[in-house]
Amino acid sequence: MTKELVFGHKNPDTDAVVAAISYSYFMNQQGFDTEAVALGEPNEETKFVFDKFNCEFPRIIETADTDAVMLVDHNEAQQSVDNIKDVEVTHVVDHHRIANFETANPLVYHAEPLGCTSTIIWKLFNQEKIEIPAEIAGLMMSAIISDTLLLKSPTTTNEDKAALESLAKTAGIDFESYGLEMLKAGTNLASKSAKELVEIDAKTFDMNGHKVRIDQVNTVDIEETLERQSEFEAAIKEEMTSENENLFILLITNILTSDTKAIIIGDDESIATFEKTFNTKIENNIAFLPGVVSRKKQVVPQLNENF
Ligand code: MN
Ligand code: MN
Repeated sequence: MTKELVFGHKNPDTDAVVAAISYSYFMNQQGFDTEAVALGEPNEETKFVFDKFNCEFPRIIETADTDAVMLVDHNEAQQSVDNIKDVEVTHVVDHHRIANFETANPLVYHAEPLGCTSTIIWKLFNQEKIEIPAEIAGLMMSAIISDTLLLKSPTTTNEDKAALESLAKTAGIDFESYGLEMLKAGTNLASKSAKELVEIDAKTFDMNGHKVRIDQVNTVDIEETLERQSEFEAAIKEEMTSENENLFILLITNILTSDTKAIIIGDDESIATFEKTFNTKIENNIAFLPGVVSRKKQVVPQLNENF
């Protein structure tokens, strides 16, 4: 069997990297020859997780050097390796919308609207009765905590909760206290430049011909983060010019209160679309989005619909 790479999206979050590792392990147990890789450096939260469970961060690539690949935690081409159109995708495990994706041949595609790709992979392990090693269980529980903000995000399902409880047992960890510590480790914004912060979790979307970029940072104090607003805006404008983007949204989410304030910059049409979508007025480039914590569920579909 020829070797295949397994990877999550660019600007990886904890789920993107962990899902690659756990799915690669899962496939190798069944006789496949796969290697988990990452499409970028770990963020602060992911570093914390890998330190905690004493795991080595995977090799980082930009283009795939195998003929066939498996995608986890994404499917859209612009979020994948640069040469995605030149390689064969044989497997996908994902919990996002399906867009900008097609294959020449039949493939294995596990898609479920759950809170985390790692929850889908946990179900696959159970289905095939394959045991999850303790350190991989620790990584997977961290991914679920990350994607669901400790089960508080509206994307959370009962299956995510069941998976988290079961994985925490396997890993021997109290997930409540560990989870809070882990999320806080990911909010260490002060040590990063504005440019780093707007790139760290960037995702771009094609919305009816408009190039829309939505970034998200987590904090425990939105107002303190906004003290750097002008610095953020300069970094955003620079990115928009070089990437030719129509609309740029930086979501600043308080993980303790589950609210978001967003910095929004864009052309007139895009700004109007944003204001209509969220029934809000952008003032001084800022909109308050109470109760919004999930980009995937509370921002992307609504905006896409209005574009
Ligand atoms: Mn992700
Ligand atoms: Mn995910």
